[in-house]
Amino acid sequence: MQCRLCLEDRKLSDSHIIPEFLYKDLYKNHRMMEINGRKKKGWKTLQKGVREKLLCADCESLLNLEYEIPFQMQWLTPESITQYTTHTAVYDYPTFKLFHLSILFRASVSSLPAFQEVNLGVVHEERIRKMILSKDPGLNWEYPIQALAVINGYGKVEKRVITSPISRRFQNHIAYGQIYGGAMWWIMVSSHRNDRFCKEGLQPSGQITMMAIPWNEIGVMQDASKMVKRAPLK
Ligand SMILES: [Zn+2]
Repeated sequence: MQCRLCLEDRKLSDSHIIPEFLYKDLYKNHRMMEINGRKKKGWKTLQKGVREKLLCADCESLLNLEYEIPFQMQWLTPESITQYTTHTAVYDYPTFKLFHLSILFRASVSSLPAFQEVNLGVVHEERIRKMILSKDPGLNWEYPIQALAVINGYGKVEKRVITSPISRRFQNHIAYGQIYGGAMWWIMVSSHRNDRFCKEGLQPSGQITMMAIPWNEIGVMQDASKMVKRAPLK
């Protein structure tokens, strides 16, 4: 069968759409945390261990070595961040960006109902596929990423929540949002640049500023943008 990443005819693995290590805190706690008001907000928690035959062993290994392991080593959020304050950190831009794009790509090629809101379309799917394979993070304005740290009722960064991705319109662009690893990630998918979105998100220097938001206030794109806007950008 055809691997969705390299497009070669290969034996396919049972691929994770969301990398396995992100579930580690979920397994530890034996239960999924519910997000307050999730019905109203449109968030839906994702069941653990969602797999599908998508990628060959070589591509699985590429994603793991090039993006998942580097992300895991870099993504060390503090245990707690005060609500409505910001946390700024600097990551390795190419691997950090491509890690999130690799999840978005897998969600797009997946036929599982949990990922049905992600449809990158032929042009973006092909562009992102090539970027992942060639380890090319693309231009700075391409597929910009914003993040909000998700804070639970105890003031801790909540890493036990993984949601299905959702799509929202943002100033005539499409953005996909998903919670995993303690943050809500928004990726804008558009052929046109949006300077405002870029300015508030991951910078080419690898710096990203995240506002810490209580999990019951995680809303739609406009809210996220408004909150990040309050954060002082350095
Ligand atoms: Zn492959």
